[in-house]
Amino acid sequence: MALIDIKPHEIRKRMIDDIRRALQKPIQDRRWVMVIDQEKCVGCTACTTSCVAENHLPPGVVYRPVVEEEHGNYPNVRKSFLPRPCMQCDDPPCVKVCPAHATWKRMDGIIEINYKRCIGCRYCISACPYSARTFDMGYFYTDNTPEIMQYEREPNFEYGKAWPRKDRESSPVGNARKCTYCIHKVEKGMLPACVSTCIGDATYFGDANDPKSLIAELLASPRARKLREEEGTEPATTYLV
Ligand code: SF4
Ligand code: SF4
Repeated sequence: MALIDIKPHEIRKRMIDDIRRALQKPIQDRRWVMVIDQEKCVGCTACTTSCVAENHLPPGVVYRPVVEEEHGNYPNVRKSFLPRPCMQCDDPPCVKVCPAHATWKRMDGIIEINYKRCIGCRYCISACPYSARTFDMGYFYTDNTPEIMQYEREPNFEYGKAWPRKDRESSPVGNARKCTYCIHKVEKGMLPACVSTCIGDATYFGDANDPKSLIAELLASPRARKLREEEGTEPATTYLV
């Protein structure tokens, strides 16, 4: 059955089943991958917003922008949208340049940052060819108001640890930050926030090492492309164009 014939809630259920099956395997046997169908993305930025909410991202930190691209010449123009999470590169330049060994590739392919080790030098931000990392300057949305709102101080749960935003000095303030594919949710058998909230059902997630998974089917599509393959970074994030 073609994907277009399957109801969105059935696609999500299948992805959740795929995740839960992957979690039964040892971590080194999983390879988490995100696939984004550019023909289905409507540019609504629901994914960007849900990511900000899920990860309690402060001003200036965005993990999943949606880049607008224009094609053609007036009056024959067309727009396309490119959601841009971390590519979770197989050969990640951000890892090689880190002098503090604060960022590395996990056995399941997720590139992790240890906020406690990060010294904030920003080498990784310069090294990433996809501009997928940003620096946490320590801002609050309620800066310059009578009171910093409590909801801004609530912890995020990146990499399965609690990171409260206590002040303007404690991690993750002063650290490099990036998309984690919501691994803290995935390891509990849930979809990343951007996948479960995608209005266009344009974002898919799963274990590429499982031939029965939806993601493995999508990766075999003739429409599958990687961004800037010539860089040799071997991105996990894949686009259907
Ligand atoms: S900013 Fe942090 S993670 Fe990035 S290279 Fe420097 S120490 Fe490593
Ligand atoms: S997209 Fe950038 S931040 Fe993400 S793994 Fe690749 S080089 Fe590192």
